[in-house]
Amino acid sequence: MLKEISVNKLSNGLPYTIITYRDAINHICNQAEFQNEVKMIFTPNVHHYYLYATDKEFRSAYDVSYMSLLDGMPLVWLSRIINKDKTEKVSGSDIFIDLFKKGLELNYKIYLLGGASGVAQKVIEKFDVEKRFQERIFFDSPPKGFELDRKIEDEVIMKINKVSPNLLFVALGSPKQEIWICRNRKKLKANIVIGVGGSFDFVAGITPRAPIWIQKISLEWLFRLLMEPKRLWKRYLITNTYFICDNIKILIKTIIYFILKK
Ligand code: UDP
Repeated sequence: MLKEISVNKLSNGLPYTIITYRDAINHICNQAEFQNEVKMIFTPNVHHYYLYATDKEFRSAYDVSYMSLLDGMPLVWLSRIINKDKTEKVSGSDIFIDLFKKGLELNYKIYLLGGASGVAQKVIEKFDVEKRFQERIFFDSPPKGFELDRKIEDEVIMKINKVSPNLLFVALGSPKQEIWICRNRKKLKANIVIGVGGSFDFVAGITPRAPIWIQKISLEWLFRLLMEPKRLWKRYLITNTYFICDNIKILIKTIIYFILKK
């Protein structure tokens, strides 16, 4: 078991946890047992890198997060170039699947918050959860904009607190989920709270996930773009351009280093 977790920073200050995929799963499962305070876990990608620099509340959420697990090879490459550590990619969707399964084995209570109506049920169906485990899985799909209505938001939190889950997965998209978790962290009774973006949609089969070989060559983002061009083209154009420009010096230095090495 990990005694403490080490943190490093990317070039714009975004903090990340230095950890391998396996250690991340084990560590989170251990921490999910303790009943003290909410531990917020986020999984940054290039979009988050951009939001960290441009959205103050998003940045504050990251700055007080318990773990920040790099979800994207561009960020992992950057971490290796500037900090030379051994961080691995820990994608939110993969960790959601593994923590869900391991959480059930460990008798944990699991709560799924977010996603469109009916999606959480589909997730449970896909996992083919045995009947005896089903009573430990809870879900709520509040209407879009629930966080703007105090009464509905209080009800959402009350439902969660009634369960007091070990693992609370929040799928509201970014930056909403990180900001929502951080704003409400003192009101929530849950051990581990993780922002998992579109993971419910992936598992439920609503949004197709890139095949493993595409993930391995780090082109999952391109696959997602081709699947949802209307929604994502602007986001990718802005955030990828920002990421490249912000790291252009490092990129050029690395290229020169490899050319001279040859
Ligand atoms: N969503 C939600 N409530 C909201 C906004 C979004 O439940 O107010 C859900 C939406 O149904 C989807 C997920 O949040 O399942 C957002 O996924 P997206 O792909 O946008 O997240 P990303 O991984 O890109 O941050």
